[in-house]
Amino acid sequence: MKLRICHLYGNLLNTYGDNGNLLMLQYCARQKGITVETEIVSLDQPFEADQYDLVFFGGGQDYEQFIVSKDIQQKADDIKEYIEKDGVLLAICGGYQLLGHHYVDASGKEIKGISAIDYYTLNQENNRFIGDITIYDEESGDTYHGFENHNGRTFLGDHVRALGIVQEGKGNNGEDKTEGARYKNVFCSYFHGPLLVRNIHLAERIVDLAVKNHQKKNLLA
Ligand code: GLN
Repeated sequence: MKLRICHLYGNLLNTYGDNGNLLMLQYCARQKGITVETEIVSLDQPFEADQYDLVFFGGGQDYEQFIVSKDIQQKADDIKEYIEKDGVLLAICGGYQLLGHHYVDASGKEIKGISAIDYYTLNQENNRFIGDITIYDEESGDTYHGFENHNGRTFLGDHVRALGIVQEGKGNNGEDKTEGARYKNVFCSYFHGPLLVRNIHLAERIVDLAVKNHQKKNLLA
């Protein structure tokens, strides 16, 4: 079996070792005897939703995020369709913010997201949330360890779950103890560094979901 991974804007949003998440996904797949093919989809390229079993959308600085925010509007419908059809997607920090309604950057400029998931992100003045973070994932019973580094403060809509509850660190906004977001087969997080290498159960869970979707697609084909 070959899993197809789309690295969304992988040439622009790839800070703080986020690409290590891809290496970890490849490692977990290989452990199961599965090969992986990764393709970057970036500016002016279509996102063909039915081509992929897994999408990875990393983080970045405000400058790159602004460039991506303009381009991603033309892919918005296809990305939303992928998500609504239970496509598996992992989004970190900047990518996470762009899947929501909007992101107010450090200078106060509002950057448009694609409203694929119900949340929005505000900025904070002269401050970033930087440091170690630990969260508890009630869905799986796992505790995740990582490192966060973001100016944005994200607030989840009523029907969006968090990826985990903050035990140590700041999380989405430093106020409500939520970290990241979970919607259908989408996993969003502020963890950098990368998230999956330190939290192998989560990597395995994401690969298992992608394998399940791949098999389902092949049965229907
Ligand atoms: N620029 C965004 C912020 O500072 C995202 C940062 C990131 O991806 N690390 O909140």
